Amino acid sequence: MTAVLRVQGLTRFFGGVRAVGGVEFEVAPGELKALIGPNGAGKSTCFNMLMGQLRPSSGEVFLNGKRITGLPPRDIWRRGVGRTFQITATYQSMTVAENVQMALISHHRRLFSFLPYARNLYREEALALLDVVGMVDQADRSCAVLAYGDLKRLELAIALSHDPTLLLMDEPTAGMAPKERIALMQLTADIVRDRGISVLFTEHDMDVVFTHAHHIMVLNRGELIADGTAAQVRANARVQEVYLGGGTLYAAEDAHA
Ligand code: ADP
Ligand code: MG
Repeated sequence: MTAVLRVQGLTRFFGGVRAVGGVEFEVAPGELKALIGPNGAGKSTCFNMLMGQLRPSSGEVFLNGKRITGLPPRDIWRRGVGRTFQITATYQSMTVAENVQMALISHHRRLFSFLPYARNLYREEALALLDVVGMVDQADRSCAVLAYGDLKRLELAIALSHDPTLLLMDEPTAGMAPKERIALMQLTADIVRDRGISVLFTEHDMDVVFTHAHHIMVLNRGELIADGTAAQVRANARVQEVYLGGGTLYAAEDAHA
């Protein structure tokens, strides 16, 4: 089966500093895969290259067998790579349902300026997506009053409105309480199972990672040192070295980069 995502020799320098070097991995259809590693390991740099925000210094990225290396973010997004966007101030003035409707309108390439005249455009589809993330009862609330965990679930619904085959989530649970983190990852795991999409994510909470991820990759100083099941990664000598060699895998409250 063709991998949804295939990464070959992915490398990025910042000046003379190599943030990511020779990273190679695949994400299979329907796979929930975690990328973990200490602060500064290069996780966000990898994500930013996959999403098109950063150009790789070298290496290749293939989506469903097609080369997407160096394409601008919008082109990568159009080809089915979703990500969770942070809801900005502008969108806070709208209701929960309107935010999802906006995303659906954009997905169907209508003009944003039509929205005021089309309150019901994609309303049913928006409610269906809100149902997926358990937010349908809050459809007509203003985003400005949402709890943080609910905002995160709304962001997930918005990401799904673009019907992605692959969802990239860089620290989706940053700033959430442990209970909310578990709930969001459980929801993500359910969505992966029900919709057959693939998800690549980073996460601080090792319990969450080891409970939900099908496979786990460990990045250390820009290099992948492990890629396997939870049991394989736990048993990996190099991973243990990173844990035991004075390096903490994550600081307790690591800044969201
Ligand atoms: P992580 O997400 O795993 O914490 P990052 O990918 O953010 O790690 O950072 C990897 C390394 O690259 C770090 O040493 C960081 O300081 C450096 N880095 C990241 N982004 C930039 C940038 N825009 N300019 C210079 N150095 C950067
Ligand atoms: Mg990061």
